[in-house]
Amino acid sequence: MNHTIFNLFNKYSSIINSIRGNYLGKSISLSNKTKQLKEDYGFDTAFLSDIGCVRKRNEDSASITFLHSPRYTAPCVLALVADGMGGHKAGNHASQLAVQIIREVIETASNPSESNLEQAFLEANKAIFKVASENADYAGMGTTATALLIVEGNGWMAHVGDSRMYRLRNKQLSQLSQDHTLVANMVRNGIITGEQAKVHPDRNVLDRAMGTHQRLEIMHMPIDVALGDIFMLCSDGLHDLVSHEEIQESLINYSPQASCSFLVDLARRRGGYDNISVVSMYCDKPSKLSPIPSTRDTITINNV
Ligand code: CA
Repeated sequence: MNHTIFNLFNKYSSIINSIRGNYLGKSISLSNKTKQLKEDYGFDTAFLSDIGCVRKRNEDSASITFLHSPRYTAPCVLALVADGMGGHKAGNHASQLAVQIIREVIETASNPSESNLEQAFLEANKAIFKVASENADYAGMGTTATALLIVEGNGWMAHVGDSRMYRLRNKQLSQLSQDHTLVANMVRNGIITGEQAKVHPDRNVLDRAMGTHQRLEIMHMPIDVALGDIFMLCSDGLHDLVSHEEIQESLINYSPQASCSFLVDLARRRGGYDNISVVSMYCDKPSKLSPIPSTRDTITINNV
């Protein structure tokens, strides 16, 4: 569905104000004690971004970047999904800018961690807002952004909007990101149920996005990474049409590449009314991973 932001603000203002409470305008760091993965590990990665069956453009961008430095003793990777909004070419431009800037900030950091990820999001927000403010063609553009950074066995997530990050561990799928939508806030506050939210007409109204305002609230937190974990990032074009259980089953049963294909295909068969993007990363001992090495260190997609 087309994202909308804030245009229903008045309708829900009392709800938003009660939810936002004291943290309006600040970054939210949800402290979470995590263990560093110290064993030898590697990744099998895959992603797919599909225009879907209805849209004329793909406004999603996705990227997997392996980071290199002589100081690293273990694989380091940055995974990103961004879902742009704004009409014409603006949404496409916003998600591309987000991916490009976040990658640049992380790639040039000497030892990137949670604070660099937060900084990367703030810089991307600033750049998108500036372009939108100075160019009528891009006025009002914005994007969601969900990132997973794993460096030397430590993981961090940063997130804005309603793209999602999941982790499959011991065959159980957990959603690690929180949807930044008015409807998700209504569920968290007990106003409607999760089932009602799935069919709510305003379920795609975001209460924050990257690039639409000068200030940005970012959800960022450490993420526990263990051997056998599968991380999956996706845009709402996927999770609107494919259930939690279906995502879980596909990650259990298929390789990252096969699960990306399966999930995108499933969303297309159910209408594919939005762009569909999926990133999947399987972390395990090198002996358990695919023997086929990646041909490129950085893979970015943005279908126009
Ligand atoms: Ca979307």
